[in-house]
Amino acid sequence: MGARRGEEVLAKLRDHPHEIWHRGERVTDVTRHEGFKSGARSLAALYNLQWQFPEEMLFDSPDSGQKVGRSFLIPRNREELKSISRMMKRWADYSFGMMGRSPDYLNRAISAYAGGAQFLAQADPRFGENAKNYHRYMRENDFSLTHTLVNPQSNRAVGPAGQSDPFLAARIKEERDDGLIIRGARMLATLPIADEIMVFPSTLLKSGDEDAPYAFAFAIPCNTKGLKFLCRETVDYGRNHYDHPLASRFEEQDAVVIFDDVFVPWERVFMLRDVDRCNQAYAATGAVIHMSHQVVVKNIAKTEFLLGLASLMIDAIGIEKIQHVHEKVRDIWVVMEAMRAFLRAAEEDAALDSYGVMRPAWDPLDAARNFFPLLYPNLVSIIQQLGASGLVAVPTSADINGPLREEIKQYFKAARLEAHERIPLFRLAWDASISAFATRQVLYERFFFGDPVRMAGALFTAHSRDQYMERIRQFLKLNIENPVADD
Ligand SMILES: Cc1cc2nc3c(=O)[nH]c(=O)nc-3n(C[C@H](O)[C@H](O)[C@H](O)COP(=O)(O)OP(=O)(O)OC[C@H]3O[C@@H](n4cnc5c(N)ncnc54)[C@H](O)[C@@H]3O)c2cc1C
Repeated sequence: MGARRGEEVLAKLRDHPHEIWHRGERVTDVTRHEGFKSGARSLAALYNLQWQFPEEMLFDSPDSGQKVGRSFLIPRNREELKSISRMMKRWADYSFGMMGRSPDYLNRAISAYAGGAQFLAQADPRFGENAKNYHRYMRENDFSLTHTLVNPQSNRAVGPAGQSDPFLAARIKEERDDGLIIRGARMLATLPIADEIMVFPSTLLKSGDEDAPYAFAFAIPCNTKGLKFLCRETVDYGRNHYDHPLASRFEEQDAVVIFDDVFVPWERVFMLRDVDRCNQAYAATGAVIHMSHQVVVKNIAKTEFLLGLASLMIDAIGIEKIQHVHEKVRDIWVVMEAMRAFLRAAEEDAALDSYGVMRPAWDPLDAARNFFPLLYPNLVSIIQQLGASGLVAVPTSADINGPLREEIKQYFKAARLEAHERIPLFRLAWDASISAFATRQVLYERFFFGDPVRMAGALFTAHSRDQYMERIRQFLKLNIENPVADD
């Protein structure tokens, strides 16, 4: 089939619906449901973009020769790696980085698992083959993925095996000749309208037999029987683009995933009951690195958006001479340049890994993925501080066309904009900073790549600080040996 177009994406969603639940009802057609259809259209638009810029977005499949999505490329040199980041930027810019789950995010993961298939094959050669075949299948069909890693938030004092119900967290219920049966739940899957779901290792599992039934990696179609997506209340209220410029376009949705005795055929299994391998998999295959590559590109798109938005607001209401306004613009600009620098360093210092895959340098990406969750809430707060009451003085399209239209024209002017120009700008600022859509974006940035506290713990352990400690030790030694100043 090769690279898809938007209409094919929508047709598949219509013809092969997943079991999606929203506010107590089964959503039978996400392409028509008020809370889902705009997100589905935006997803479709991303696929159309591929064909608007085929040179940049597509490449020739090494197997079929047909054009396929560049985010499935397993890069073998630096230029290929950079070509992926250009492609990812085009997708990120489409939603100003608000669709963190544009399909490239997990296409990068599955490509890394295929590139590092040897790691999976060490446990069982079939697992390595499965990963390569699956990557090929996804690439040739241009399917999208969601994923779910985290066990339900019931009792965090104990692991999945210590919960009151052993089937609370998704667990292997049965191993059959033809595959596995999975029962239990996982949270959370963003973009539940994706074609397929990766159910990959959860946060660190305990070695030994206890957590083994929770240790696995597999991928299945989202419309597999028994697979249920219980979505949060949508933040797309079905309003027009004028009123809700972001939410009416880029609602990705997040869902708890319930496995009601779900069948997983063996050819879709990549790891099984191997706690140590599951704990190492993201790092060993490089998946976390290639995913972080996408994340930094998204961060740049998002920060560029906020810089443009803040600058237009400042200009509109004439606050460009005020000092704290300069500081706030500096803060956004510094984040943007920092993210660009992390990206550039990661690409320039990329190197072939032991599987022959061009892997971006991890240290700058690890720094970026730890840094941005701390920065993003502040960037959003800057929009709030610049906008102030302007973020609530935002009449809707109904007001603008209603009986008060003349008053609105008169009283909603800005220093440099007429009311009809100012209101859409401030509605955009509202949807980026205080609406339900905006708040979910902040929560997303804080947590989607993991708990920042545990990520800090991982960083603390992973990065050696020996050379810096040694430098201080040497300095202190000098002071001990020569305590008296010579002068
Ligand atoms: C909008 C959104 C979208 C998401 N999308 C996805 C997705 O698509 N796929 C996916 O797999 N996941 C997704 N996630 C889940 C994300 O991976 C988790 O939120 C993250 O890993 C933190 O886990 P948790 O939410 O279960 O928090 P918890 O682990 O329940 O933590 C709750 C609080 O307790 C603290 N805490 C708990 N245990 C510890 C500990 N051992 N050490 C230190 N502190 C601890 C945490 O710091 C936090 O403050 C998403 C999350 C959000 C908010």
